[in-house]
Amino acid sequence: MKKIIIAIDGYSSCGKSTLAKQLAKQLNYIFIDTGAMYRTITLYFLRKGIDASQKEIILKELPNIHLTFVYDESLGKNAIYLNGENVELAIREMSVSNNVSPFATIAEIRQLAVAQQQLMGESKGIVMDGRDIGTVVFPQAELKIFMTASPEVRIERRFKEMQPSHPNITKEEVRKNLEERDYIDSHREVSPLRQAEDARVLDNSNMTRDEQLDLVKGWVKELE
Ligand code: C5P
Repeated sequence: MKKIIIAIDGYSSCGKSTLAKQLAKQLNYIFIDTGAMYRTITLYFLRKGIDASQKEIILKELPNIHLTFVYDESLGKNAIYLNGENVELAIREMSVSNNVSPFATIAEIRQLAVAQQQLMGESKGIVMDGRDIGTVVFPQAELKIFMTASPEVRIERRFKEMQPSHPNITKEEVRKNLEERDYIDSHREVSPLRQAEDARVLDNSNMTRDEQLDLVKGWVKELE
């Protein structure tokens, strides 16, 4: 069977990573969560007390950031490492979620992430999710999916996902974070989030995970 590149883009909390992880497992593909890369870069700067407006310092610091992925059996996916440290949990903190989108507008940060993403896709057999995968990273991807779901469904999903690690979080905080990120992500100058012309739209508001997986597996079959 021919190995392909599967690019999944869409708004925050549409279940992109969940689908990508399931697909990768079933197809024996590599799954790369590109949001984790932008989150990790953000974590690096937050730890140094640097915010996204400090462009000069950011550019000086960028060569000191090394991102690697190592497969984690218990997670069933690659965990991300920042200069050798596993930061998979730390990057899910609210402080990172609240700051990541402004950092992700910076062209030089995107260049660093995109170059690494393109290298990882060279041998195909990859499922990558993010905001610019089908438009910028792999415009040649054989299968492009643009995921969407109603705001209510997305808020509810993210709230449930965050509650165990953030027991005091409110739905209002989640709503605000999703709205802010979606706005910045789709209005930035460099590689804004948008649907690639040849992407297939997947609205999973009323779908179970199994239903959506079956649908997409059908799309993959058509292409293999
Ligand atoms: O996918 P996730 O929600 O973890 O992504 C976090 C943030 O990283 C997004 O809100 C967006 O600002 C940025 N991002 C991006 N391009 C990607 C993936 C994520 O700008 N390909």
